[in-house]
Amino acid sequence: MAATTELVDFDEVIAKFDPAMGLEIHVELNTNTKMFCGCPTAFGAEPNTQVCPTCLGLPGAMPVVNRKAVESAIRIGLALNCEIAEWCRFARKNYFYPDMPKNFQTSQYDEPIAFDGYLDVDVEGETFRVEIERAHMEEDTGKSTHVGGSDGRIHGADYSLVDYNRAGIPLIEIVTRPILGTGDKAPLVAKAYVSAIRDLIVALGVSDARMDQGSIRADVNLSLAPKGSGGLGTRSETKNVNSLRSVERAVRYEMGRHAGILLAGGSVLQETRHFHENDGTTSSGREKSDAEDYRYFPEPDLVPVAPSREWVTELRATLPENPAAKRVRLQKEWGFSDLEMRDTIGAGALELIEETVAAGAAPQAARKWWLSELTRRANDTGVELAEVGVTPVQVAGVQALVDTGRINDKLARQVFDGLIAGEGTPEEIVAARGLEIVSDDGALSAAVDKAIEANPDVADKIRDGKVAAAGALIGAVMKEMRGQADAGRVRELILEKLA
Ligand SMILES: [Zn+2]
Repeated sequence: MAATTELVDFDEVIAKFDPAMGLEIHVELNTNTKMFCGCPTAFGAEPNTQVCPTCLGLPGAMPVVNRKAVESAIRIGLALNCEIAEWCRFARKNYFYPDMPKNFQTSQYDEPIAFDGYLDVDVEGETFRVEIERAHMEEDTGKSTHVGGSDGRIHGADYSLVDYNRAGIPLIEIVTRPILGTGDKAPLVAKAYVSAIRDLIVALGVSDARMDQGSIRADVNLSLAPKGSGGLGTRSETKNVNSLRSVERAVRYEMGRHAGILLAGGSVLQETRHFHENDGTTSSGREKSDAEDYRYFPEPDLVPVAPSREWVTELRATLPENPAAKRVRLQKEWGFSDLEMRDTIGAGALELIEETVAAGAAPQAARKWWLSELTRRANDTGVELAEVGVTPVQVAGVQALVDTGRINDKLARQVFDGLIAGEGTPEEIVAARGLEIVSDDGALSAAVDKAIEANPDVADKIRDGKVAAAGALIGAVMKEMRGQADAGRVRELILEKLA
């Protein structure tokens, strides 16, 4: 049936149905070791080199909880305004899959570490409160690679390989309550929520938070109910959506698809679905199991987790400023326009500018360097802005030289060349490359005389009172002095000499 479903236009969906969403986000923690063993977690190692009897599920191996992962889970829970359990357990979620060698996933079921929280997100000036049902701890599975088939799927593959390096890496799964009342903003609210979670995770420093590398993955549940009915329809769950834009598109597509089925008199199948980046569509995965099919039971090999209230209080004190509130504060402090702020965030330059300002530069000067000169260099070499090879302290140092008139913006670019080449501090580079602006009258005067001599017609115009013509002579002096002349002083000298 899915193949023949007509997609319904978004406006019509909104006119006839109320959407309900549920978002499940998996965050891969950046602990040094796995959730229940001491194996390293570094990304990109040779397959099956970061494994041990515990994460391979060998008989008799005993797991031990990673304290750092519990700490990160509690901090995430607190940042999401959750209650933190005084006592909770792990549970076995039983199902078979080749990349899960124990045939169960160690997770949490009815006793999550964090529960009953919320996160407020802004969409086009309107605030939506997303209620968090729970945030629980679990382990990641291994990774299967299907070889020989089309687009990496198991169907049609010649054989499959499995890498257990990822098996046992700690995950936090954050689950919302049904998100209702979003109407035509549903796709944007979903995107804003995932974006806000990512910002929070970055601010907490508990994960690499790279959606493109799968360290944050979103599952998008969607259902439609007849408009005004107040009910909840049957949901579909689109798995592992891995960019913010895809989250928005997946919601939009599923709304159109569900409406098509419902308006044709059909019923939506409760199932998991795959999202396709290339055309923004979803396709059927497997029928969704209900919780009872997993036969959850408490994990007998792990002691319960009972974080003391003192520890929770200590961790609460480590929480960073809420990222959304921080942006509002910084924009006000820096005097940036909405557009400047949006560009700053889009370029990933917020923290860099913050540190540059902290090192003494004016906000607009810091913004100018990071968003133009340094962004261009980062793009040219295909690296993140933070990895361009210049630190915020160095940018502030370059700007200080501009502020005191020792170099100008043009010469500053050569200082950045030197910084990236590792030639020392901005001060040292100016000295070694001889970049300092010349404002000594002796040197300038000779260059001005030479320019006047070479451009007699321009000089005559200035003598006749056409002061604007001085620009041409200033240009000539600058060229003569390789851009290092004090332009203001050169102008004064020209006007003095031709008065
Ligand atoms: Zn291990």
